[in-house]
Amino acid sequence: MRTAIYPGSFDPLTNGHLDIIQRAVKLFDRVIVAVAKSESKNPLFTLEERVQMVTRTIHHMPAVQVDSFDGLLVQYAEKRSAQAVIRGLRAVSDFEFEFQLALMNRKLNERVETIFMMPKDAYTFLSSRIIKEIAHLGGDVSAFVPAHVRTALHNKFSHAPA
Ligand code: ADP
Repeated sequence: MRTAIYPGSFDPLTNGHLDIIQRAVKLFDRVIVAVAKSESKNPLFTLEERVQMVTRTIHHMPAVQVDSFDGLLVQYAEKRSAQAVIRGLRAVSDFEFEFQLALMNRKLNERVETIFMMPKDAYTFLSSRIIKEIAHLGGDVSAFVPAHVRTALHNKFSHAPA
């Protein structure tokens, strides 16, 4: 059983995240989308809301599970008997931080490999931060997130179009 963890804040989940999940299921028997508590990042959505958004998005994908975690990723990966951690790379700007993180995680636990995956090029400019900004300013995010995420954003920023 080859298991990969796909960790992140998912605040909120975007079509870019979904693209990476769809690629990862082709390589692994089980993909666990692990929603980080990320308290220090002051998330817009609560942990429960973020888990719920991922759950609704992947409900038709039997090889994908959703979980939440707090603390060290490599410890969590070990606990879930995962061989790999998936990270998405959008642009060179992601690389430096991701490279540092991957090497540090390897130092902490060399049994867990980090695998980088590139999304479809149309999603390379997508980030949760930009989506929140657009929604906050009343812009239409329907091309970038699942419909229920758009509704959740609308409910947070009540002046955004439904
Ligand atoms: P984090 O707080 O860990 O950065 P994110 O939810 O922002 O959490 O991202 C989780 C993972 O998904 C990261 O590896 C990030 O690079 C990747 N990711 C985010 N947006 C995209 C996208 N549009 N395309 C591909 N990968 C993405």
